[in-house]
Amino acid sequence: MPLRRAFDYLAPEGLSLPSLSPGVRLRVPFGSREITAILLETVDEASVDQKQLRAANSVLDEEPLLSPSIMALCSWASDYYQHPVGEVFSAALPKALRDGRGLSQTHWRLTTRGKGLPEGALSRAPSQAKALAALQRGEQPPLVLSEAGVSSAVLRELASKDLIERCRGTTEQPNADLKESGPTPGAEQAEALAAVKLGEFNCHLLQGVTGSGKTEVYLRLITACLERGDQALVLIPEIGLTPQTVERFEARFKTPVAVLHSGMADGQRFAAWQAAQSGSAGIVMGTRSAIFTPLARPGLIVVDEEHDGSYKQQDGFRYSARDVAVKRAQLEACPVILGSATPSLESLENARRGRYQHHFLRGRQGGGELPMLQTVDLRGLHLNAGISDYLLAAIRDTVETQGRQALLFLNRRGFAPTLQCHDCGWVADCDHCDARLTVHLRKRCLRCHHCAAQRALPPQCPDCASRSLLTHGLGTEQTEEFLNTVLRCPVHRVDSDAMRGVDAMQSLLEVAQSEKPCVILGTQMLTKGHHFPAVQLVGVIDADALLYSADFRGEERMAQLVVQVAGRAGRESAGGKVLIQTHYPDDPLFELLRDGHFEAITSSLLEKRRSSGLPPFGQLMLLRSDARNEQDGEAFLRAVKRESQQYLPKDCQLIGPLPSAMPRRAGRFRWQLWCIAASRRSAIAAARLLVDRAEVLKKPRELSWFIDVDPSDVL
Ligand code: ADP
Ligand code: ZN
Ligand code: ZN
Repeated sequence: MPLRRAFDYLAPEGLSLPSLSPGVRLRVPFGSREITAILLETVDEASVDQKQLRAANSVLDEEPLLSPSIMALCSWASDYYQHPVGEVFSAALPKALRDGRGLSQTHWRLTTRGKGLPEGALSRAPSQAKALAALQRGEQPPLVLSEAGVSSAVLRELASKDLIERCRGTTEQPNADLKESGPTPGAEQAEALAAVKLGEFNCHLLQGVTGSGKTEVYLRLITACLERGDQALVLIPEIGLTPQTVERFEARFKTPVAVLHSGMADGQRFAAWQAAQSGSAGIVMGTRSAIFTPLARPGLIVVDEEHDGSYKQQDGFRYSARDVAVKRAQLEACPVILGSATPSLESLENARRGRYQHHFLRGRQGGGELPMLQTVDLRGLHLNAGISDYLLAAIRDTVETQGRQALLFLNRRGFAPTLQCHDCGWVADCDHCDARLTVHLRKRCLRCHHCAAQRALPPQCPDCASRSLLTHGLGTEQTEEFLNTVLRCPVHRVDSDAMRGVDAMQSLLEVAQSEKPCVILGTQMLTKGHHFPAVQLVGVIDADALLYSADFRGEERMAQLVVQVAGRAGRESAGGKVLIQTHYPDDPLFELLRDGHFEAITSSLLEKRRSSGLPPFGQLMLLRSDARNEQDGEAFLRAVKRESQQYLPKDCQLIGPLPSAMPRRAGRFRWQLWCIAASRRSAIAAARLLVDRAEVLKKPRELSWFIDVDPSDVL
């Protein structure tokens, strides 16, 4: 329930309290319904009047589904993020279990008879023979057998011959055998490997550009973890989780890799969750939400591309999977490795304070040099679809003369962000947001990128009927169209319009692997961990849009992005080049980037944050409101401020209420109250206080509010 409290019940009839362990599910009456609940704790005294207590109806699990450490993790997260405890626990369970279903009974193991059956004995039943052989080789833990395309009919047949039997999960340790051994670690890799202590809590920041061998370090650590009989949990950013990523792990290890991400069907997710929880999968790999997956024997946590924005959930339960990962490692008493070419300022500061051990992989494996970075001073230059003649010449040279690939980055999709009437000045605005509608020529429509609004492209101005409509600004569609008219090679557009579904990303990666000359033009999507071996030139078309963002993290993101896209160039071929188009080539940030000093940039950014008390030096929380009426939100947040100000810890400061950068979105007005705390302890106290006050204050019925602890966007 979206309620910030737990509920008391009596034990189900005939059951004693001591027989119930926290972490089991119960069916309980709630109002006039029956719902699934999780037992948090048993106590002798209820917090409500004994007479009001109702008894739970039944217990669903013999053994707790959630381990004590996951229980503690969820309770911690609920408190830290001030989010309703029931919704937090929901994040740890797949849908089937939230609905009250039981764990599936698809666990099978060999009987004594099955173990001793001579080879060839089942030659007349090939699919049975195949299934049995897999179990005999010990490659396929029981649960995975049913996932590996073995039908339940085959399993039943084998069971009827007394060759296999059902069992409860696996108790065997994950298979630590390798399919291939992998390269010998280099000196820097060996140093990082030696520093990680399995079996106890320790945090590591592994910093190295793409291709420097971070993944190889993970693979080695996982090997050691499996050898101890433990499982490894690997978090990957949303777009980084491709079949190739999983294949690389599967190519190394014999133990199954259970994959969990939000795009999976419920059944698949459930199977993977059980493989993780039962211990049959030695490796569990997933996106953000996988951090709450219970493991039978947790031994190692890896967060790849730790700076990535997709680790922060942006609605509902607003947690950061990276931060939860560190907390979880502490609770599970295991090491956690955060890897990135461009670590977040938060992690860098933690490393500087000695909370994380900082390891660098400075050389590129295979000797590919880091590309040369150069700014293109756009002032006064003629531009075509945002592209200067200088950049165009470089693209031509790359694809037409050298036969290599060029990668262009433009973080705006559609054709153009504005449609305007040349005769009367009318502009196509969104009716529901303080935003303009983006022109999508291909689909012949206008779309709001902030709400779902969409309408047909008008043939004429709705105000004066003029047919003279102009577009302003840049978009990937426009640049694609222009490049198609001037280049002879294919141009591949990579944005959320062009890349629907897993197949689209797959075919793009095939294009990249084919190494045929082409231009790859895309948004943010391009920057996530993929390898583009034939890319010789990287162009950042509009660096100014990144640099001058209203978010205090704008510069940090810009620097990360340039280093990330630059990391895609010239991996296998020396002499890659990065061209950054800007009207502000003298900005000190570019100077530092040109010299390849990501560390100098981050220390200058950290200095700025320190002087302004912003994260990671102060802890930020936003109380946000959202209402149909323009004044309601402001009045509500003002009241929260008034009611809580005098009780706040001394080192906390409230700022606002302020309107959001886009005050009206999807027809609702948005305000925010900032709270900056100098210490984590005060931050937690302040968050509790703000939420307590907000919960009891009178407010218009349709006004909604939420707290965002450690927000990643303040817009
Ligand atoms: P990252 O994760 O930092 O992008 P990878 O671990 O994928 O880097 O390494 C890049 C390439 O270099 C991979 O093909 C990997 O197999 C290879 N590699 C990594 N470490 C070594 C090593 N010590 N010796 C030889 N090749 C290595
Ligand atoms: Zn007009
Ligand atoms: Zn809109």
